[in-house]
Amino acid sequence: MSEYPDVKLFIAGEWRDGQEGKTLPIIDPATEEEIGRLAHATKPDLDAALESAERGFKVWRQTPAFDRYKIMRKAADLLRERKDAIAWLMTREQGKPLAQSGLEVLAAADTVDWIAEEGRRTYGWTIPARAPGVTNMTLKMPVGPVAAFTPWNFPINQIVRKLGSALATGCSIIVKAPEETPASPAELIRAFTDAGVPTDVMSLVYGVPAEISEYLIPHPTIRKISFTGSTPVGKHLAALAGQHMKRATMELGGHAPVMVFNDADIDTAVTQMAAFKSRNAGQVCISPTRFLVQDKVADKFLDGFIGAMQKLKVGNGLEAGTDMGPLANERRIPAIEDMINDATSKGGNLATGGERIGNKGYFFQPTVLTDVPTDAKIMNDEPFGPVAIVNRFKEYDEAVGEANRLPFGLASFAYTGSGTTADRLSRDVESGMLTINHLGLAVPEVPFGGIKDSGYGTEGGADVLEAYLETRFVSTQQ
Ligand code: NAD
Repeated sequence: MSEYPDVKLFIAGEWRDGQEGKTLPIIDPATEEEIGRLAHATKPDLDAALESAERGFKVWRQTPAFDRYKIMRKAADLLRERKDAIAWLMTREQGKPLAQSGLEVLAAADTVDWIAEEGRRTYGWTIPARAPGVTNMTLKMPVGPVAAFTPWNFPINQIVRKLGSALATGCSIIVKAPEETPASPAELIRAFTDAGVPTDVMSLVYGVPAEISEYLIPHPTIRKISFTGSTPVGKHLAALAGQHMKRATMELGGHAPVMVFNDADIDTAVTQMAAFKSRNAGQVCISPTRFLVQDKVADKFLDGFIGAMQKLKVGNGLEAGTDMGPLANERRIPAIEDMINDATSKGGNLATGGERIGNKGYFFQPTVLTDVPTDAKIMNDEPFGPVAIVNRFKEYDEAVGEANRLPFGLASFAYTGSGTTADRLSRDVESGMLTINHLGLAVPEVPFGGIKDSGYGTEGGADVLEAYLETRFVSTQQ
Protein backbone atom coordinates (compact mmCIF):
# COMPACT_ATOMS: atom_id res chain seq x y z
CA MET A 1 0.00 0.00 0.00
CA SER A 2 1.54 3.30 -0.98
CA GLU A 3 -1.40 5.64 -1.34
CA TYR A 4 -3.74 6.81 1.35
CA PRO A 5 -7.22 6.82 -0.25
CA ASP A 6 -10.12 9.23 -0.18
CA VAL A 7 -12.69 7.56 2.04
CA LYS A 8 -16.36 7.17 1.19
CA LEU A 9 -19.52 6.30 3.05
CA PHE A 10 -20.76 2.72 2.82
CA ILE A 11 -24.55 2.57 2.52
CA ALA A 12 -26.81 -0.10 1.03
CA GLY A 13 -23.85 -2.10 -0.23
CA GLU A 14 -22.22 0.83 -2.08
CA TRP A 15 -19.23 3.05 -1.42
CA ARG A 16 -20.70 6.52 -1.93
CA ASP A 17 -20.00 10.21 -1.69
CA GLY A 18 -22.24 12.19 0.63
CA GLN A 19 -25.42 13.27 -1.16
CA GLU A 20 -24.68 16.93 -0.45
CA GLY A 21 -21.12 16.47 -1.72
CA LYS A 22 -19.39 17.66 1.45
CA THR A 23 -15.96 16.34 2.34
CA LEU A 24 -13.62 16.66 5.31
CA PRO A 25 -9.80 16.65 5.30
CA ILE A 26 -7.85 13.73 6.74
CA ILE A 27 -4.60 14.80 8.42
CA ASP A 28 -1.46 12.73 9.11
CA PRO A 29 -0.65 13.61 12.74
CA ALA A 30 3.07 12.94 12.20
CA THR A 31 3.44 15.42 9.33
CA GLU A 32 0.29 17.59 9.53
CA GLU A 33 -0.22 16.95 5.79
CA GLU A 34 -3.66 16.45 4.33
CA ILE A 35 -3.50 12.88 3.09
CA GLY A 36 -7.04 12.41 1.83
CA ARG A 37 -10.63 13.59 1.90
CA LEU A 38 -13.52 11.99 3.69
CA ALA A 39 -17.12 11.90 2.50
CA HIS A 40 -19.40 13.62 4.95
CA ALA A 41 -22.89 12.28 5.63
CA THR A 42 -25.87 14.55 6.05
CA LYS A 43 -29.54 13.81 6.66
CA PRO A 44 -30.34 12.27 3.25
CA ASP A 45 -27.42 9.84 3.68
CA LEU A 46 -28.55 8.96 7.19
CA ASP A 47 -32.08 8.33 5.92
CA ALA A 48 -30.65 6.01 3.29
CA ALA A 49 -28.60 4.21 5.95
CA LEU A 50 -31.67 3.86 8.18
CA GLU A 51 -33.78 2.40 5.38
CA SER A 52 -30.94 0.07 4.53
CA ALA A 53 -30.64 -1.03 8.18
CA GLU A 54 -34.37 -1.87 8.23
CA ARG A 55 -33.97 -4.08 5.17
CA GLY A 56 -30.73 -5.59 6.45
CA PHE A 57 -32.26 -6.55 9.78
CA LYS A 58 -35.05 -8.49 8.04
CA VAL A 59 -32.47 -10.52 6.11
CA TRP A 60 -29.84 -11.01 8.78
CA ARG A 61 -32.11 -11.97 11.68
CA GLN A 62 -33.37 -14.87 9.51
CA THR A 63 -29.84 -15.97 8.62
CA PRO A 64 -28.94 -19.03 10.75
CA ALA A 65 -26.48 -18.35 13.54
CA PHE A 66 -24.14 -20.94 12.07
CA ASP A 67 -24.02 -19.10 8.72
CA ARG A 68 -23.41 -15.79 10.45
CA TYR A 69 -20.59 -17.45 12.37
CA LYS A 70 -18.95 -18.77 9.18
CA ILE A 71 -19.05 -15.36 7.51
CA MET A 72 -17.57 -13.70 10.58
CA ARG A 73 -14.75 -16.24 10.84
CA LYS A 74 -13.95 -15.60 7.20
CA ALA A 75 -13.86 -11.86 7.84
CA ALA A 76 -11.41 -12.46 10.69
CA ASP A 77 -9.15 -14.42 8.34
CA LEU A 78 -9.33 -11.64 5.74
CA LEU A 79 -8.27 -9.13 8.39
CA ARG A 80 -5.25 -11.31 9.20
CA GLU A 81 -4.34 -11.56 5.50
CA ARG A 82 -4.67 -7.80 5.06
CA LYS A 83 -2.95 -6.88 8.29
CA ASP A 84 0.02 -5.02 6.82
CA ALA A 85 -2.00 -2.88 4.43
CA ILE A 86 -4.57 -1.94 7.07
CA ALA A 87 -1.87 -1.22 9.67
CA TRP A 88 -0.16 1.18 7.26
CA LEU A 89 -3.39 3.14 6.80
CA MET A 90 -3.97 3.23 10.53
CA THR A 91 -0.51 4.55 11.31
CA ARG A 92 -0.85 7.26 8.68
CA GLU A 93 -4.17 8.50 9.96
CA GLN A 94 -3.76 7.89 13.69
CA GLY A 95 -0.02 8.04 14.34
CA LYS A 96 0.63 4.94 16.45
CA PRO A 97 3.73 2.87 15.58
CA LEU A 98 3.22 0.39 12.78
CA ALA A 99 3.76 -2.60 15.08
CA GLN A 100 0.94 -1.37 17.36
CA SER A 101 -1.35 -0.88 14.35
CA GLY A 102 -0.56 -4.42 13.19
CA LEU A 103 -1.37 -5.78 16.64
CA GLU A 104 -4.65 -3.89 16.61
CA VAL A 105 -5.66 -5.59 13.35
CA LEU A 106 -4.74 -9.01 14.72
CA ALA A 107 -6.57 -8.29 17.98
CA ALA A 108 -9.63 -7.30 15.94
CA ALA A 109 -9.51 -10.65 14.14
CA ASP A 110 -9.31 -12.49 17.47
CA THR A 111 -12.25 -10.47 18.80
CA VAL A 112 -14.34 -11.34 15.75
CA ASP A 113 -13.53 -15.03 16.22
CA TRP A 114 -14.54 -14.94 19.88
CA ILE A 115 -17.78 -13.08 19.29
CA ALA A 116 -18.67 -15.26 16.29
CA GLU A 117 -18.28 -18.35 18.45
CA GLU A 118 -20.40 -16.83 21.22
CA GLY A 119 -23.09 -16.18 18.60
CA ARG A 120 -23.62 -19.94 18.37
CA ARG A 121 -24.37 -20.07 22.09
CA THR A 122 -27.22 -17.58 22.54
CA TYR A 123 -29.21 -20.08 24.56
CA GLY A 124 -32.67 -19.58 25.98
CA TRP A 125 -34.20 -21.55 28.85
CA THR A 126 -37.07 -23.89 29.47
CA ILE A 127 -38.71 -23.19 32.80
CA PRO A 128 -40.70 -25.76 34.83
CA ALA A 129 -44.37 -24.86 34.57
CA ARG A 130 -47.02 -24.78 37.31
CA ALA A 131 -49.59 -26.70 35.29
CA PRO A 132 -49.45 -29.95 33.34
CA GLY A 133 -49.00 -29.66 29.57
CA VAL A 134 -47.48 -26.18 29.75
CA THR A 135 -44.14 -25.35 28.19
CA ASN A 136 -42.41 -22.18 29.39
CA MET A 137 -39.45 -21.04 27.41
CA THR A 138 -37.31 -18.02 26.72
CA LEU A 139 -35.97 -17.00 23.33
CA LYS A 140 -32.97 -14.76 22.76
CA MET A 141 -33.82 -12.43 19.89
CA PRO A 142 -31.68 -9.75 18.23
CA VAL A 143 -32.59 -6.33 19.56
CA GLY A 144 -32.77 -4.71 16.09
CA PRO A 145 -30.80 -2.12 14.10
CA VAL A 146 -27.89 -0.73 16.11
CA ALA A 147 -26.22 2.69 15.95
CA ALA A 148 -22.57 2.60 17.06
CA PHE A 149 -20.37 5.64 17.72
CA THR A 150 -16.65 5.06 18.04
CA PRO A 151 -13.52 7.17 18.65
CA TRP A 152 -10.19 7.65 16.94
CA ASN A 153 -7.78 6.11 19.44
CA PHE A 154 -8.35 2.50 18.27
CA PRO A 155 -9.93 3.06 14.86
CA ILE A 156 -10.69 -0.63 14.30
CA ASN A 157 -10.91 -2.15 17.74
CA GLN A 158 -13.45 0.30 19.06
CA ILE A 159 -15.72 -0.69 16.17
CA VAL A 160 -15.13 -4.39 16.10
CA ARG A 161 -16.61 -5.17 19.52
CA LYS A 162 -19.85 -3.43 18.52
CA LEU A 163 -19.95 -4.60 14.91
CA GLY A 164 -19.08 -8.16 15.91
CA SER A 165 -21.80 -8.32 18.56
CA ALA A 166 -24.43 -6.88 16.24
CA LEU A 167 -23.54 -9.33 13.47
CA ALA A 168 -23.30 -12.37 15.73
CA THR A 169 -26.78 -11.80 17.14
CA GLY A 170 -28.54 -11.00 13.84
CA CYS A 171 -28.76 -7.21 14.20
CA SER A 172 -28.03 -4.75 11.41
CA ILE A 173 -25.77 -1.83 12.27
CA ILE A 174 -24.92 1.74 11.30
CA VAL A 175 -21.38 2.61 12.40
CA LYS A 176 -20.51 6.27 12.87
CA ALA A 177 -16.76 5.84 12.73
CA PRO A 178 -14.10 8.41 13.67
CA GLU A 179 -13.67 11.20 11.12
CA GLU A 180 -9.98 11.62 11.93
CA THR A 181 -9.07 7.97 11.31
CA PRO A 182 -11.49 6.76 8.65
CA ALA A 183 -9.59 4.53 6.21
CA SER A 184 -8.82 1.61 8.50
CA PRO A 185 -12.48 1.38 9.60
CA ALA A 186 -13.45 1.34 5.93
CA GLU A 187 -11.11 -1.63 5.42
CA LEU A 188 -12.71 -3.37 8.38
CA ILE A 189 -16.14 -3.04 6.76
CA ARG A 190 -14.67 -4.18 3.44
CA ALA A 191 -13.35 -7.37 5.05
CA PHE A 192 -16.87 -8.18 6.27
CA THR A 193 -18.50 -7.46 2.90
CA ASP A 194 -15.84 -9.53 1.13
CA ALA A 195 -16.53 -12.33 3.60
CA GLY A 196 -20.20 -12.33 2.63
CA VAL A 197 -22.17 -10.07 4.99
CA PRO A 198 -25.24 -9.25 2.85
CA THR A 199 -26.03 -5.82 1.45
CA ASP A 200 -27.89 -3.58 3.93
CA VAL A 201 -26.65 -5.30 7.08
CA MET A 202 -23.84 -2.77 7.71
CA SER A 203 -23.50 0.92 6.95
CA LEU A 204 -20.55 3.17 7.65
CA VAL A 205 -20.98 6.92 7.98
CA TYR A 206 -18.88 9.92 8.96
CA GLY A 207 -19.85 13.54 9.50
CA VAL A 208 -20.56 15.86 12.42
CA PRO A 209 -20.79 13.46 15.40
CA ALA A 210 -23.44 15.43 17.31
CA GLU A 211 -25.64 15.85 14.23
CA ILE A 212 -25.48 12.15 13.46
CA SER A 213 -26.10 10.93 17.00
CA GLU A 214 -28.98 13.36 17.55
CA TYR A 215 -30.64 12.12 14.39
CA LEU A 216 -30.01 8.39 14.73
CA ILE A 217 -30.61 7.83 18.45
CA PRO A 218 -34.22 9.06 18.55
CA HIS A 219 -35.05 7.51 15.18
CA PRO A 220 -37.64 4.71 15.50
CA THR A 221 -35.58 2.36 13.31
CA ILE A 222 -32.70 2.28 15.80
CA ARG A 223 -33.22 -0.07 18.75
CA LYS A 224 -29.82 0.01 20.39
CA ILE A 225 -26.98 2.49 20.90
CA SER A 226 -23.36 1.74 21.69
CA PHE A 227 -20.90 4.56 22.33
CA THR A 228 -17.22 4.70 23.22
CA GLY A 229 -15.77 8.08 24.13
CA SER A 230 -15.64 10.63 26.91
CA THR A 231 -17.89 10.57 29.97
CA PRO A 232 -19.60 13.95 29.30
CA VAL A 233 -20.58 12.93 25.75
CA GLY A 234 -21.58 9.47 26.99
CA LYS A 235 -23.90 10.96 29.61
CA HIS A 236 -25.50 13.16 26.99
CA LEU A 237 -26.06 10.24 24.59
CA ALA A 238 -27.27 7.93 27.37
CA ALA A 239 -29.84 10.56 28.36
CA LEU A 240 -31.02 10.81 24.76
CA ALA A 241 -31.23 7.03 24.52
CA GLY A 242 -33.20 6.99 27.78
CA GLN A 243 -35.70 9.55 26.51
CA HIS A 244 -36.42 7.26 23.60
CA MET A 245 -36.24 4.00 25.60
CA LYS A 246 -33.33 2.66 23.58
CA ARG A 247 -30.95 0.04 24.93
CA ALA A 248 -27.46 1.51 25.43
CA THR A 249 -23.90 0.41 26.12
CA MET A 250 -21.52 3.11 27.30
CA GLU A 251 -17.74 2.63 27.31
CA LEU A 252 -16.52 5.91 28.74
CA GLY A 253 -13.47 7.57 30.23
CA GLY A 254 -11.12 6.31 32.91
CA HIS A 255 -8.35 7.58 35.17
CA ALA A 256 -6.62 4.33 36.03
CA PRO A 257 -4.83 4.03 39.36
CA VAL A 258 -1.66 1.91 39.61
CA MET A 259 -0.92 0.76 43.17
CA VAL A 260 2.66 -0.39 43.75
CA PHE A 261 3.19 -1.93 47.18
CA ASN A 262 6.46 -2.32 49.14
CA ASP A 263 6.47 -6.06 48.47
CA ALA A 264 6.08 -5.70 44.68
CA ASP A 265 8.50 -6.79 41.98
CA ILE A 266 9.56 -3.24 41.08
CA ASP A 267 11.46 -4.14 37.91
CA THR A 268 8.38 -5.81 36.46
CA ALA A 269 6.19 -2.88 37.47
CA VAL A 270 8.57 -0.40 35.82
CA THR A 271 8.95 -2.32 32.57
CA GLN A 272 5.27 -3.08 32.13
CA MET A 273 3.99 0.32 33.15
CA ALA A 274 6.42 2.36 31.01
CA ALA A 275 5.40 0.27 27.98
CA PHE A 276 1.70 0.49 28.76
CA LYS A 277 1.73 4.22 29.60
CA SER A 278 3.38 5.07 26.29
CA ARG A 279 1.19 2.73 24.23
CA ASN A 280 -0.75 4.76 21.68
CA ALA A 281 0.86 7.86 23.29
CA GLY A 282 -1.33 7.36 26.36
CA GLN A 283 -4.53 7.92 24.36
CA VAL A 284 -6.15 4.85 25.81
CA CYS A 285 -9.14 4.73 28.16
CA ILE A 286 -7.40 2.07 30.29
CA SER A 287 -4.02 3.86 30.25
CA PRO A 288 -2.27 3.81 33.67
CA THR A 289 -2.42 7.37 35.02
CA ARG A 290 -2.37 7.85 38.82
CA PHE A 291 0.60 5.90 40.14
CA LEU A 292 0.41 5.37 43.89
CA VAL A 293 3.69 3.95 45.15
CA GLN A 294 4.34 2.83 48.72
CA ASP A 295 7.00 4.86 50.55
CA LYS A 296 9.80 2.25 50.84
CA VAL A 297 9.93 1.52 47.09
CA ALA A 298 8.96 4.92 45.73
CA ASP A 299 12.51 6.11 44.96
CA LYS A 300 13.45 2.86 43.25
CA PHE A 301 10.25 2.85 41.21
CA LEU A 302 10.66 6.48 40.20
CA ASP A 303 14.30 6.08 39.15
CA GLY A 304 13.44 3.13 36.94
CA PHE A 305 10.20 4.56 35.57
CA ILE A 306 11.59 8.00 34.71
CA GLY A 307 14.59 6.33 33.04
CA ALA A 308 12.33 4.05 31.00
CA MET A 309 10.12 6.95 29.90
CA GLN A 310 13.18 8.98 28.87
CA LYS A 311 14.51 6.12 26.76
CA LEU A 312 11.38 5.89 24.62
CA LYS A 313 11.97 6.80 20.99
CA VAL A 314 9.27 9.23 19.88
CA GLY A 315 8.79 9.63 16.15
CA ASN A 316 6.82 8.89 13.02
CA GLY A 317 5.05 5.59 13.53
CA LEU A 318 6.11 4.45 10.06
CA GLU A 319 9.80 4.55 11.02
CA ALA A 320 11.38 1.39 12.39
CA GLY A 321 12.33 1.63 16.05
CA THR A 322 9.66 4.17 17.01
CA ASP A 323 8.22 3.39 20.45
CA MET A 324 5.69 6.21 20.57
CA GLY A 325 4.07 8.18 17.74
CA PRO A 326 2.50 11.63 17.79
CA LEU A 327 -0.71 12.55 19.53
CA ALA A 328 -3.59 11.81 17.20
CA ASN A 329 -4.78 15.37 16.75
CA GLU A 330 -3.72 18.92 17.32
CA ARG A 331 -6.18 19.67 20.14
CA ARG A 332 -4.56 17.09 22.46
CA ILE A 333 -1.43 19.30 22.70
CA PRO A 334 -2.94 22.35 24.43
CA ALA A 335 -5.20 20.05 26.46
CA ILE A 336 -2.19 18.21 27.89
CA GLU A 337 0.00 21.31 28.26
CA ASP A 338 -2.78 22.99 30.20
CA MET A 339 -3.04 20.05 32.62
CA ILE A 340 0.73 19.94 33.16
CA ASN A 341 0.95 23.71 33.80
CA ASP A 342 -1.97 23.53 36.19
CA ALA A 343 -0.30 20.66 38.11
CA THR A 344 3.05 22.47 38.47
CA SER A 345 1.35 25.74 39.43
CA LYS A 346 -0.35 23.86 42.27
CA GLY A 347 2.94 22.45 43.59
CA GLY A 348 3.42 19.30 41.50
CA ASN A 349 6.94 18.48 40.34
CA LEU A 350 7.76 17.95 36.67
CA ALA A 351 10.25 15.06 36.81
CA THR A 352 10.66 14.62 33.05
CA GLY A 353 9.07 15.72 29.77
CA GLY A 354 6.27 18.26 29.74
CA GLU A 355 6.67 19.72 26.27
CA ARG A 356 5.74 19.35 22.66
CA ILE A 357 8.58 18.02 20.50
CA GLY A 358 9.33 20.20 17.46
CA ASN A 359 6.68 22.18 15.65
CA LYS A 360 5.67 19.81 12.87
CA GLY A 361 3.61 16.79 13.84
CA TYR A 362 1.84 16.46 17.16
CA PHE A 363 4.72 14.88 19.08
CA PHE A 364 4.84 15.18 22.86
CA GLN A 365 7.49 14.16 25.38
CA PRO A 366 6.76 11.20 27.65
CA THR A 367 6.07 13.02 30.89
CA VAL A 368 6.23 12.18 34.59
CA LEU A 369 4.81 14.43 37.30
CA THR A 370 5.40 13.67 40.97
CA ASP A 371 3.81 14.79 44.24
CA VAL A 372 0.78 16.30 42.54
CA PRO A 373 -1.98 17.57 44.87
CA THR A 374 -5.45 16.12 44.46
CA ASP A 375 -6.95 19.46 43.50
CA ALA A 376 -4.85 19.60 40.30
CA LYS A 377 -6.93 19.09 37.15
CA ILE A 378 -4.82 16.17 36.01
CA MET A 379 -5.64 14.28 39.23
CA ASN A 380 -9.31 14.49 38.31
CA ASP A 381 -9.63 14.64 34.51
CA GLU A 382 -8.40 12.02 32.09
CA PRO A 383 -5.09 13.31 30.61
CA PHE A 384 -5.44 11.08 27.52
CA GLY A 385 -1.79 11.53 26.67
CA PRO A 386 1.70 10.29 27.62
CA VAL A 387 1.60 11.72 31.13
CA ALA A 388 2.00 9.72 34.36
CA ILE A 389 1.49 11.12 37.85
CA VAL A 390 3.49 9.39 40.60
CA ASN A 391 2.46 10.06 44.21
CA ARG A 392 3.50 8.23 47.40
CA PHE A 393 1.42 6.49 50.04
CA LYS A 394 2.08 4.82 53.40
CA GLU A 395 -0.84 2.50 54.16
CA TYR A 396 -3.13 0.23 52.14
CA ASP A 397 -6.25 2.26 53.02
CA GLU A 398 -4.66 5.44 51.75
CA ALA A 399 -3.91 3.87 48.36
CA VAL A 400 -7.35 2.33 47.95
CA GLY A 401 -9.02 5.54 49.17
CA GLU A 402 -7.21 7.50 46.47
CA ALA A 403 -7.89 4.83 43.83
CA ASN A 404 -11.62 5.06 44.59
CA ARG A 405 -11.75 8.84 45.05
CA LEU A 406 -12.75 9.64 41.48
CA PRO A 407 -16.10 8.94 39.86
CA PHE A 408 -14.35 6.87 37.17
CA GLY A 409 -14.18 3.09 37.51
CA LEU A 410 -12.73 1.61 34.35
CA ALA A 411 -9.30 -0.05 34.75
CA SER A 412 -6.97 -0.42 37.73
CA PHE A 413 -3.50 -1.93 38.11
CA ALA A 414 -1.64 -3.21 41.16
CA TYR A 415 1.71 -4.78 41.97
CA THR A 416 2.18 -6.72 45.21
CA GLY A 417 3.93 -9.88 46.35
CA SER A 418 1.19 -10.59 48.86
CA GLY A 419 -1.73 -12.87 48.01
CA THR A 420 -3.67 -11.32 50.88
CA THR A 421 -3.23 -7.80 49.52
CA ALA A 422 -4.20 -8.99 46.03
CA ASP A 423 -7.33 -10.59 47.42
CA ARG A 424 -8.31 -7.48 49.39
CA LEU A 425 -7.77 -5.30 46.31
CA SER A 426 -10.02 -7.47 44.19
CA ARG A 427 -12.89 -6.65 46.58
CA ASP A 428 -12.02 -3.08 47.56
CA VAL A 429 -11.07 -1.38 44.29
CA GLU A 430 -14.05 0.16 42.53
CA SER A 431 -13.34 -0.55 38.89
CA GLY A 432 -14.70 -2.72 36.15
CA MET A 433 -11.28 -4.25 35.46
CA LEU A 434 -8.31 -4.87 37.78
CA THR A 435 -5.05 -6.51 36.75
CA ILE A 436 -2.48 -7.49 39.40
CA ASN A 437 1.23 -8.12 38.72
CA HIS A 438 0.79 -8.30 34.95
CA LEU A 439 -1.07 -6.79 32.00
CA GLY A 440 -4.18 -8.90 31.67
CA LEU A 441 -6.82 -6.59 30.21
CA ALA A 442 -8.65 -6.32 26.93
CA VAL A 443 -8.37 -9.80 25.41
CA PRO A 444 -11.64 -10.89 23.77
CA GLU A 445 -12.53 -13.67 26.21
CA VAL A 446 -12.57 -11.42 29.30
CA PRO A 447 -15.07 -8.67 30.19
CA PHE A 448 -14.28 -5.17 28.99
CA GLY A 449 -16.17 -2.31 30.58
CA GLY A 450 -16.45 0.12 33.43
CA ILE A 451 -18.57 1.00 36.43
CA LYS A 452 -19.53 4.36 37.98
CA ASP A 453 -18.97 7.25 35.52
CA SER A 454 -16.98 4.96 33.23
CA GLY A 455 -20.22 3.57 31.86
CA TYR A 456 -22.15 0.33 31.73
CA GLY A 457 -22.26 -2.88 29.74
CA THR A 458 -19.41 -5.14 28.78
CA GLU A 459 -17.83 -5.55 25.37
CA GLY A 460 -15.95 -8.77 26.01
CA GLY A 461 -16.12 -12.15 27.66
CA ALA A 462 -19.01 -14.55 27.86
CA ASP A 463 -21.56 -11.72 28.36
CA VAL A 464 -20.51 -9.87 25.23
CA LEU A 465 -23.78 -10.47 23.37
CA GLU A 466 -26.24 -9.74 26.16
CA ALA A 467 -26.62 -6.08 25.23
CA TYR A 468 -27.64 -7.03 21.68
CA LEU A 469 -30.28 -9.57 22.65
CA GLU A 470 -33.78 -9.37 24.03
CA THR A 471 -35.14 -12.09 26.23
CA ARG A 472 -38.64 -13.03 25.12
CA PHE A 473 -40.84 -15.38 27.10
CA VAL A 474 -43.32 -17.83 25.54
CA SER A 475 -45.70 -20.07 27.49
CA THR A 476 -47.69 -22.75 25.61
CA GLN A 477 -50.47 -25.04 26.83
CA GLN A 478 -50.54 -28.27 24.78
P1 NAD B 1 -14.67 14.53 22.34
O1 NAD B 1 -15.31 14.37 23.66
O2 NAD B 1 -15.06 15.66 21.47
O3 NAD B 1 -14.90 13.22 21.45
C1 NAD B 1 -14.68 11.92 21.94
C2 NAD B 1 -15.36 10.97 20.96
O4 NAD B 1 -16.77 11.16 21.03
C3 NAD B 1 -15.01 11.25 19.50
O5 NAD B 1 -14.92 10.04 18.82
C4 NAD B 1 -16.17 12.07 18.96
O6 NAD B 1 -16.39 11.86 17.59
C5 NAD B 1 -17.31 11.52 19.75
N1 NAD B 1 -18.37 12.49 19.99
C6 NAD B 1 -18.26 13.72 20.50
N2 NAD B 1 -19.46 14.29 20.60
C7 NAD B 1 -20.36 13.42 20.12
C8 NAD B 1 -21.77 13.42 19.96
N3 NAD B 1 -22.52 14.45 20.37
N4 NAD B 1 -22.35 12.32 19.43
C9 NAD B 1 -21.63 11.24 19.05
N5 NAD B 1 -20.28 11.18 19.18
C10 NAD B 1 -19.66 12.24 19.72
O7 NAD B 1 -13.14 14.56 22.59
P2 NAD B 1 -11.86 14.33 21.69
O8 NAD B 1 -11.08 15.58 21.68
O9 NAD B 1 -12.12 13.65 20.40
O10 NAD B 1 -11.16 13.27 22.63
C11 NAD B 1 -10.70 13.72 23.87
C12 NAD B 1 -11.39 13.05 25.01
O11 NAD B 1 -12.30 12.03 24.63
C13 NAD B 1 -10.33 12.37 25.82
O12 NAD B 1 -9.87 13.23 26.81
C14 NAD B 1 -10.99 11.15 26.35
O13 NAD B 1 -11.52 11.44 27.62
C15 NAD B 1 -12.14 10.89 25.44
N6 NAD B 1 -11.92 9.72 24.57
C16 NAD B 1 -12.14 8.52 25.12
C17 NAD B 1 -11.93 7.39 24.37
C18 NAD B 1 -12.15 6.03 24.95
O14 NAD B 1 -11.59 5.07 24.46
N7 NAD B 1 -12.99 5.90 25.98
C19 NAD B 1 -11.49 7.52 23.06
C20 NAD B 1 -11.28 8.77 22.52
C21 NAD B 1 -11.52 9.88 23.29
